[in-house]
Amino acid sequence: MEYIVFKDVCKYYKMGAHKITAADHISFSVNKGDFCVVVGPSGAGKTTLLNILGGIDTCDEGEIYLDGRLVSNLNKRQLTDYRRYDVGFVFQFYNLVQNLTALENVELASEICRDPLDAMETLKSVGLEERSDNFPAQLSGGEQQRVAIARALAKNPKILLCDEPTGALDYDTGKHILKLLQDTCRNTGKTVIVITHNTEITRMADRVVHVRNGQISAMELNENPVSVE
Ligand code: ADP
Ligand code: ADP
Repeated sequence: MEYIVFKDVCKYYKMGAHKITAADHISFSVNKGDFCVVVGPSGAGKTTLLNILGGIDTCDEGEIYLDGRLVSNLNKRQLTDYRRYDVGFVFQFYNLVQNLTALENVELASEICRDPLDAMETLKSVGLEERSDNFPAQLSGGEQQRVAIARALAKNPKILLCDEPTGALDYDTGKHILKLLQDTCRNTGKTVIVITHNTEITRMADRVVHVRNGQISAMELNENPVSVE
């Protein structure tokens, strides 16, 4: 079932007199429950795609649907609600609140939501129940990213959008995070989209979107995605 649909989406940025086409007539769809990976060189337009899907940014042309709802024409107020209730974000540098514990960071997210999951249970699901009272500075990079993932999941969003979630981590830690995201996708049925530079993880994905110069240069469907060891 088509869950996320991009139809002829364009996004332009103005740099003085110069116009940059960050998304150039992008059309693709993602099924419900897919583990979808977006790859491509730096500056290709990957973050732009994720940000306009997540309501952090808006597109200039075209249409975006999530779960049958047109989300590309929401007004400011509707966009705030959309970001709050429907979308979970995970960023490269975690963006945790430093003076709150791991558990409090997760609780913070669930407080603003309609239908939050239990914060402690969610922390447990990312393997961090023992670290719930620790502050971010007391946690490793990989652990901080786990808290950030728990924070996003606790909102019980429709989609989980991850922008280079392993970009600040060493290879093995990054691999564990990607496995956690894949497991989360399988166990919760959530639709997960992950931007990465690393082409190795394409084997793990149900769907791989290759982006280049603001366009989709290739689309792969994997019948038998690999589970990371
Ligand atoms: P990627 O995530 O693949 O590295 P981006 O989506 O960040 O690519 O960027 C796509 C293009 O849009 C790049 O040329 C980038 O410089 C440009 N761009 C992105 N955000 C902005 C912005 N806020 N203002 C101007 N140009 C931008
Ligand atoms: P660096 O540490 O210099 O960024 P690495 O070679 O360690 O370079 O990793 C390159 C990128 O791939 C990093 O963002 C890393 O987190 C990520 N990565 C880690 N594990 C995997 C994996 N199994 N598959 C794909 N990418 C991974």
